[in-house]
Amino acid sequence: MSDTAAVAEADALVAEATGEASGTAEGEPKFTLELNQDQKDIREWVHGFAEGVVRPAAEEWDEREETPWPVIQEAAKIGLYSFEALGQFWADETGLTLPIANEELFWGDAGIGMAIMGTSLAVAAIFGQGTPEQMGEWIPRCFGSADDPKVAAFCSSEPDAGSDVSAIRTTAKYDEAKDEWVINGQKAWATNGGIADVHVVIASVDRELGSRGHAAFVIPPGTKGCEQGAKVKKHGLRASHTADVHLDDCRVPGACLLGGKEKLDERLARVREGKKAKSQAAMQTFEASRPTVGAQALGIARAAYEYALDYAKERQQFGKAIIENQAIAFTLADMKLEIDAARLLVWRAAWMGRNGHKFENAEGSMSKLKAGEVAVWSTERAIQILGGNGYTREFPVERMHRDAKIYTIFEGTSEIQRLVISRAISGVHVK
Ligand SMILES: Cc1cc2nc3c(=O)[nH]c(=O)nc-3n(C[C@H](O)[C@H](O)[C@H](O)COP(=O)(O)OP(=O)(O)OC[C@H]3O[C@@H](n4cnc5c(N)ncnc54)[C@H](O)[C@@H]3O)c2cc1C
Repeated sequence: MSDTAAVAEADALVAEATGEASGTAEGEPKFTLELNQDQKDIREWVHGFAEGVVRPAAEEWDEREETPWPVIQEAAKIGLYSFEALGQFWADETGLTLPIANEELFWGDAGIGMAIMGTSLAVAAIFGQGTPEQMGEWIPRCFGSADDPKVAAFCSSEPDAGSDVSAIRTTAKYDEAKDEWVINGQKAWATNGGIADVHVVIASVDRELGSRGHAAFVIPPGTKGCEQGAKVKKHGLRASHTADVHLDDCRVPGACLLGGKEKLDERLARVREGKKAKSQAAMQTFEASRPTVGAQALGIARAAYEYALDYAKERQQFGKAIIENQAIAFTLADMKLEIDAARLLVWRAAWMGRNGHKFENAEGSMSKLKAGEVAVWSTERAIQILGGNGYTREFPVERMHRDAKIYTIFEGTSEIQRLVISRAISGVHVK
């Protein structure tokens, strides 16, 4: 794609996102839980890929603990791993397509799902904070091409800055003579860190301002001084690569500051004058992505529930199927209930986010919190329903339980979500 075409595409995405597109100009789309044909088609398409390609590969890549490049390539070949697909999901003005696609993919397998969707956090940062030119230049490069797919990484967390994003120590200093930013620091836990072509890094440009002095930078492929550190061996999501990223005198062109220097200077000036800053670089990305992350957790929960339901109908003990015992049947009823309740929270937050409704009561956090906890609980219950088999690697619910656990930790732990919700509903600075 030419630069001009890419910029035009990005402009169209922005217009969609801000409601300038003709579809939304006539009035807000009515909220309905009846999926339209496009949504159903996309759900079926992603489900088919999850069932036919992702599931059969899940166990192998979990054991190998490596990025499943052949599966990513398959996804790229059918157009599922591409910025066009993400743009199409995002363009749905009801906001539901993105969570629907994520739920289906992660129903297939969460480790591979994250290997495919991990790129989208970096894309969300570029989309949320970049200029149209930056979007046009960098978003396609996050994906590469169908023949040569690439991944992207979003690097906010550091060894001493996890939940406390304001503690970020990575610095970015402007070298005016060369119009370059010089970035130094160490990032921790980055999904696709070091193997990504495009890294989006959150750095402090003014430590005294805490998180209000943060800015987001694109590190172009092959930039000197941006290296992978230790790769993390994990409990779950093992097909997804997680690693430290070291930034040592890493120089990037001035144009790599997302949003541009003028906008940053204006924002910093406002903060220094004691006025409220409109946004914080990392938090903006997390807030927007929470319903999508919740949908991923839902996919895992649903997969475990469906597996346990089938198993309970088959498995005979005391001369009858174990589902004939209320203890098992009621557990399955509760699993279904909790999963459906979580989905409603996810869809509500996705709809609100897409239609520009402010999360007055931290609805994005609610959706991620509920879905993450439901995923952990449901997968644990699924193991219980499978008994000894559930505890073995011969049956997938064991992997699903390991995968689910991360959803109460990353993108804001459950405690942090509760903090955000309690502050939002009370107006009190709960600690
Ligand atoms: C597999 C994986 C992938 C990841 N991918 C990325 C990525 O792509 N990019 C990225 O930037 N980061 C990523 N992370 C990092 C992730 O976002 C952090 O692990 C998470 O934010 C929690 O930070 P922490 O691990 O430092 O825990 P800590 O912040 O040290 O928290 C430890 C415990 O203390 C609790 N706690 C902390 N503060 C409070 C408080 N004020 N009130 C109550 N309880 C509190 C927490 O809830 C938690 O239970 C990833 C992590 C993992 C494991």
